[in-house]
Amino acid sequence: MIPFDDALRQILAAAPLMGSERVALGAAAGRVLAEELIAHTPLPTFDYSAMDGYAVAHRDFEGDGPWIFSVRGESRAGGPLVTLERSSVCRIFTGAPLPAGADAVVMQEDVTRERELAKFEQRPPVGAHIRRRGDDLAEGAVALDRGTRLTGFHLGLAAAVERSELLVARRPRVAILCTGEELRAPGSLATPGSVPDSNGPSLAALVSSAGGIAELMPRTRDDMEATQQALRAALHSADLLLTVGGVSVGEHDLVRAALESIGAELEFWKVQIKPGKPLAFGSFGRTRILGLPGNPVSAQLTFSIFGVPLIRAMQGDRKPLPVRGRARLARNFRQKPGRTSFYRATLAGDTVDLAQNQASGSTASLAYADALVIVPAEVEELAAGDSVELIRLAEL
Ligand code: AMP
Ligand code: MG
Repeated sequence: MIPFDDALRQILAAAPLMGSERVALGAAAGRVLAEELIAHTPLPTFDYSAMDGYAVAHRDFEGDGPWIFSVRGESRAGGPLVTLERSSVCRIFTGAPLPAGADAVVMQEDVTRERELAKFEQRPPVGAHIRRRGDDLAEGAVALDRGTRLTGFHLGLAAAVERSELLVARRPRVAILCTGEELRAPGSLATPGSVPDSNGPSLAALVSSAGGIAELMPRTRDDMEATQQALRAALHSADLLLTVGGVSVGEHDLVRAALESIGAELEFWKVQIKPGKPLAFGSFGRTRILGLPGNPVSAQLTFSIFGVPLIRAMQGDRKPLPVRGRARLARNFRQKPGRTSFYRATLAGDTVDLAQNQASGSTASLAYADALVIVPAEVEELAAGDSVELIRLAEL
């Protein structure tokens, strides 16, 4: 049995990197950048006005005010480049190029306009309300680092530096193999003792939000030969294989033995965590294998903790781990020490309340949880108001 931190380290250290592919900008959200994105043009590319108002030359404001100038010409967004005439001002609008010879913009709220004349009470400082070429990013600067998981904000920046396509990591193919005689398709005819397969759809969704391509394999019976065959089929084209169920110590828990019998190498199969103690990790050639426990909460939770970061690391993500936050406990709490524990909890402001039902079979408690509170293995008790570490489930 290995400690939580060691297990996570071992899983991430072995992450095999995917190749890369070019995708249109519109398809790049959620993908991981596989190139260093250089700004080949400065951002912005020209000096422009940040306000609707008047472009002026600072030196024209001689002596004491107020100053009256005639208004000559106009610069508007997308319009032609204009030149500021001597001892006059030029009408200008937000986003419009700064006229040649102008060095400040006065916003129209500060100007009194009478026909072709404009009156100014204040002398504007040089540079007022001007966005300079290269202010945001210099030409040749790194706009985005390799390994950035792309959000809409990153795509906005990529577009601003003229990119219509990006090189991103290939999405890992993730085969999901659920095992158990009792499983059937949700909504199908119920026979006594049967249960709908809830892990399959849940894990498939978690895989794709982590950037993987999920492939749900046909469910398999608890039979050695059938399990071996199903494993071979699932390993065939996958970068990562998730098995679900059958990794415990019962007579019908065949997955570990079946994996070893077909030549997979397992690095560990027990981790000091709760829930989810039976958790296998290994590989078959270049394919990584995560053997998840079958209990829905254990399966989905261990996948969130270990599988999501692994899929991200396989894409070269520089920050594969979920961001951890902190909150204060709503109530006193005790646990049996010995394993790093992950408690389902709800959040209200910066107060966190552990769910009453922490049973590993309680699918409802996981669906209703906002966060997983992480309690270190050695802790025995905590008091209301104590600060605890957590992962927000929406930010997985
Ligand atoms: P196992 O790890 O195979 O011993 O399964 C532990 C518990 O989880 C049993 O109650 C199973 O019926 C249940 N279980 C296993 N796989 C699934 C699944 N895919 N969907 C829902 N429940 C499952
Ligand atoms: Mg089973």
